[in-house]
Amino acid sequence: MRCLSCHKLSISTFCKKCQNRLLKPSISKRKFNDFEIYSFYKYQNIEDLLLTKHTPQGFIIYKALAKIVFKPFIKEFIKNSNSLIYIIGVDEVVESGYSHVSLLTHEMKGDKVKILHSKLIAKSRKKYSGKSLKFRVENPREFVYSGKKNIDAILVDDIITTGTTLKEAKRVLEKNHINVLFGLTLASVV
Ligand SMILES: [Zn+2]
Repeated sequence: MRCLSCHKLSISTFCKKCQNRLLKPSISKRKFNDFEIYSFYKYQNIEDLLLTKHTPQGFIIYKALAKIVFKPFIKEFIKNSNSLIYIIGVDEVVESGYSHVSLLTHEMKGDKVKILHSKLIAKSRKKYSGKSLKFRVENPREFVYSGKKNIDAILVDDIITTGTTLKEAKRVLEKNHINVLFGLTLASVV
């Protein structure tokens, strides 16, 4: 195949050169009380890639990004852990043929890492894009959780903007007796 960025022959979606040039992650952390959320990119640096979400090209790009950042991150994290960790994606609903968050969580699968697909679904389908913090707070996602309880879990989403969604997701999981270790997102808007 050819690299999606430079179009030279490549065995992966993005060739090694482009990965190093454009997609080198730099981890940042945002903190909401005791809830820490890690991001691998600044939103504006990979905006073009993220905007392919819900297109056929987005399927390939999200998968590639998950391989570049989520896979090595969880591999490293699990090294220091003996217990089973669960991954819960935020609102894994299928739009235009696939759920982009499922593509991210799927790459984290491993011996000590189990993925709970489509277990945390929002009842409200109001769009947050471009909306204020006030709007987001006044219009909660109304998450419903239908997965396993009494587990340690990592919450995963593609983008963090205000943190409202992830904070609400964490509250709902905690009501279900889940110990949320931290959040992981591809990109942070701030
Ligand atoms: Zn390239």
